[in-house]
Amino acid sequence: MLTKAPRGTRDILPDEVYKWNYVEKEFSELCKRFGYKEIRIPVFEHTELFQRGVGNTTDIVQKEMYTFLDKGGRSITLRPEGTAGVVRSYIEHGMSSLPQPVKLFYQISAYRYEKVQAGRYREFHQFGVELLGAKSPSADAEVISILALYFDRLGIKNLELNINSIGCPECRSKYNEILKDYLKDKIDSMCPTCQDRYNRNPLRILDCKEEKCQEVVKNAPSLLDHICDECKKHFEAVLERLSIMGIPFNVDKGIVRGLDYYTKTVFEFVSKNIGSQGTVCGGGRYDGLVEDCGGAPTPGIGFALGVERLLLELNSQGIEIPEPEAPDIYIASIGNKADLICEKLAWQLREKNITCIKDIMDRSIKAQMKYADKIGARYVLVLGDNEIESNKAELRDMETGDTKVISLDTLVDRLVKIKCEGSL
Ligand code: ATP
Ligand code: MG
Repeated sequence: MLTKAPRGTRDILPDEVYKWNYVEKEFSELCKRFGYKEIRIPVFEHTELFQRGVGNTTDIVQKEMYTFLDKGGRSITLRPEGTAGVVRSYIEHGMSSLPQPVKLFYQISAYRYEKVQAGRYREFHQFGVELLGAKSPSADAEVISILALYFDRLGIKNLELNINSIGCPECRSKYNEILKDYLKDKIDSMCPTCQDRYNRNPLRILDCKEEKCQEVVKNAPSLLDHICDECKKHFEAVLERLSIMGIPFNVDKGIVRGLDYYTKTVFEFVSKNIGSQGTVCGGGRYDGLVEDCGGAPTPGIGFALGVERLLLELNSQGIEIPEPEAPDIYIASIGNKADLICEKLAWQLREKNITCIKDIMDRSIKAQMKYADKIGARYVLVLGDNEIESNKAELRDMETGDTKVISLDTLVDRLVKIKCEGSL
């Protein structure tokens, strides 16, 4: 127990972290270029927020939340996603009085009690965007285009964008009746959860992962064929804008998305490479959510991208991520006097942003050289009595084998210059 992380959690080890740093930096830089600002939200919220904001009939709320009473007897839940927290924050901090729209992005961990498998964890990470206060189709197109450009930047090819419209509450309530009518003589062959959903939220049945339910809904009437004129116009305008930007998409009448709050546009980016957990990213419009959570009516649209699945995809496409740079220099020293000089030189080099490593293990010179090699230091310098006396030392380029005798007084300037120019 003590030496094993809980099921569904994973350490991100140092030799993997650079990949995370890379995708995080690319994402935040791209979002900023679209005018989005970062928001950081708490890891836990009041349970009610998710019951309301994610929806009581969703798998997340019904089966997957990490909920507990804190020592003050409050029901607390670890965030299973980011949108509800962002919307809560938007309302709490009166962001509706800021210039609209409010454009936010986040990079969070999220928690769901799920069946653990490749691409499905209990602690996982999401990059997300929430665009609040804009109702035009252009807002939908903008949010989707962030993802398209992001994948493009990372060199990811062949992710499929599937898009649908699930209409507004009016078209949906009409459709719910049509769907219920279609399902009414099939109730017995559905899973118990869907039997319950039949009255509470029949649309959810379309998203059930149980095979017998998928069989039942296979030929069900599509919501897209029953949306109102306004929703239809909106959807067509979104597609037109995607086409103008050259972003390929498939209209997929089957997408309903797992969360209750979506209206109109819903979409997913799906991979064929990473197995059954192929949905790398999902999103959609949620025009009723802010009001549902206690704010003024405010349109919104956003997405959440699964970082673990993104990295699986990068891996499966053989995309290389720039590796972190090896240390610029290792300064080996022989004896205490040399070590003291080395201490000072290392400090001066680090002040100038040169990555310098020195011995802190009291190792022999032989062992120090071995270590310098292991950590892949680009340059090595050895300080012994002779070097101290002559104030000169041999700087060795470990990549080319070239050596140069330099004055210790010029070491710092030399290395700064080398770092700019790339060689001795
Ligand atoms: P799925 O259908 O795979 O369960 P979802 O509809 O529950 O996904 P969302 O709530 O839309 O997923 O979350 C957005 C993204 O977060 C997903 O597309 C996926 O990449 C990622 N994600 C969701 N749940 C997990 C998980 N348990 N482990 C890893 N990534 C996840
Ligand atoms: Mg899920």
